[in-house]
Amino acid sequence: MTVPRVRARTTRTEPLQDNPVPGHKRVLLAAPRGYCAGVDRAVITVEKALERYGAPVYVRKQIVHNLHVVRELEHKGAVFVDEVDDVPEGAHVVFSAHGVAPAVKDAAALRGLQAIDATCPLVSKVHREAVRFARDDYEILLIGHTGHEEVEGTAGEAPAHVTVVNSPEEADTVVVRDPARVVWLSQTTLSVDETMQTVRRLRERFPQLQDPPTDDICYATQNRQVAVKKMAPDCDLVLVVGSGNSSNTVRLAEVALQHGARVAQRIDDADEIRQEWLDGVATVGVTSGASVPEALVHGVLAALAAAGYADVSDVRTAEEDLVFSLPRELRTVSPGGRP
Ligand code: SF4
Repeated sequence: MTVPRVRARTTRTEPLQDNPVPGHKRVLLAAPRGYCAGVDRAVITVEKALERYGAPVYVRKQIVHNLHVVRELEHKGAVFVDEVDDVPEGAHVVFSAHGVAPAVKDAAALRGLQAIDATCPLVSKVHREAVRFARDDYEILLIGHTGHEEVEGTAGEAPAHVTVVNSPEEADTVVVRDPARVVWLSQTTLSVDETMQTVRRLRERFPQLQDPPTDDICYATQNRQVAVKKMAPDCDLVLVVGSGNSSNTVRLAEVALQHGARVAQRIDDADEIRQEWLDGVATVGVTSGASVPEALVHGVLAALAAAGYADVSDVRTAEEDLVFSLPRELRTVSPGGRP
């Protein structure tokens, strides 16, 4: 897979300009926000599969963790199922951006399903790390949230070698077979600061703990957190657009609070903004999770403008231009036979 380069992250450290008129109602709009390269690829994968094979195309789990995206794809003919057993034999099934365990792929093959894998390449990278460290007989401490689809997929690569560590507190109690052969890996969508805290606590107990070869928390998660950290101290309220089951969205609200926002609220869309949240609020920060279409942010900005918050300033801390190519099955084939 061709992976174009990500532009270097340019984090500005100077403080934001103070509100020019104390009490003046304004919006600080974080950038980057919204769709990442993995989500974009996964959504286009389902759309292209529908175009190429016709409806229905089955999708195991939510293709990305956003209700609006799922509903729109359902409207176009996608059918979301919990397990491959729910897919008629021989049908097309798309695996979500969060990845799947090898056992799921095996089950799909047994049913004769035509599988299209929309796993984000940055999640696949963590899968490969798990396979490699398990082969070298390491015990893998996978920092992440038990039950999250990505964690189930990664752990499923080497179940006998993986222990999930959910929090810094669990780092104090996790038991390993051999402290000399331990490595940590992580879910891609965690809080960077909390993960590093967990790693520090693990290393206090296991000084020979190995680091992953490269960052597992992905560029999109990191970039969105950096932007929120920059604007949070100036915000009376931060609105984070995204669904409740979206890990990176929930983390953004936590990061906003940890970095100085007086209040942070996660909302699926503008309809969830409550009038009382705006009482006495001068500066509202707005951001969105990596699975959130920009139209939902526009809806929030329109609702805020109607409430007197029409002055919008960008708080940009990075440029992103990463694009992933589609799964092999869906790449357009030119007359010359090249994708
Ligand atoms: Fe991939 Fe990161 Fe987006 Fe998840 S949040 S789909 S790991 S780019």
